[in-house]
Amino acid sequence: MLVEVVASGGALVLSGAGLSTESGIPDYRGPTGLARRGTGASGATPMTYQVFTGGADARRRYWARSHLGWRHIARAVPNDGHRAVAALGRRGLLAGIITQNVDGLHQAADLAAGPVTGRAEVTELHGSLHRVLCLSCGQRTARSDLDRRLAAANPGWDPGSVSVNPDGDAALDDEAVASFGVADCAACGGVLKPDVVFFGENVPPARTRACYDLVEAASALVVLGSSLTVMSGFRYVRHAARLGRPVVIVNQGATRGDAYAAATLDAPLGQTLTALVAAL
Ligand SMILES: [Zn+2]
Repeated sequence: MLVEVVASGGALVLSGAGLSTESGIPDYRGPTGLARRGTGASGATPMTYQVFTGGADARRRYWARSHLGWRHIARAVPNDGHRAVAALGRRGLLAGIITQNVDGLHQAADLAAGPVTGRAEVTELHGSLHRVLCLSCGQRTARSDLDRRLAAANPGWDPGSVSVNPDGDAALDDEAVASFGVADCAACGGVLKPDVVFFGENVPPARTRACYDLVEAASALVVLGSSLTVMSGFRYVRHAARLGRPVVIVNQGATRGDAYAAATLDAPLGQTLTALVAAL
């Protein structure tokens, strides 16, 4: 079923955290879970938009942890699953890619595959950790630039020995946080936020609508590595089913969308997608 649906062309991919676990980025079963943790001492409490925007101390804590953890995100590389999806895009078989991931690995896989020709466009439903957004002037800048600015603003900052999870979350004591200097927008001095959708924040309406349009224009919806627990992704599965588009789900474990699917495959993503490309 997966092979037929993809081979006939025009399928839309909806990808989630399960596609990136083989790149060493754990699946926390939440939208941009890796970006949103960081208010509690253990890191288990999700960062909310309200907490982040509500106080300078919360932002200092977020950026101190994030500064330590960024290198883990920055050095993550695409896996076989991302490479297979990029290959499908380059063969002109996809109507597009909607990803719930904020790690930029779809684009990295496509770039690694060579010159840009006929690739599928990636819509980052929950934004990207590779960009930073100014809450005052709306300017988007590269996270790599901010990383350099944070390093320059914190010469000799040494939090001592800290544990950094593969998702870029670092446990830090209060003293280390208090001595960390945050950087503001270089253009206007406004508050900077990672360009990701936090808990307590909605996906921008124009982006939501654009994704509905993608579903309507697609011949089928192929879900890759998402348990669909979050409404921001699940609603597209419901929409596709309502329109009579076949939904095929490849995920390790059951998903909230299984009842809407024409077929489900409980299998490892990298291996399954590599086999799919080979079968086409
Ligand atoms: Zn600004």
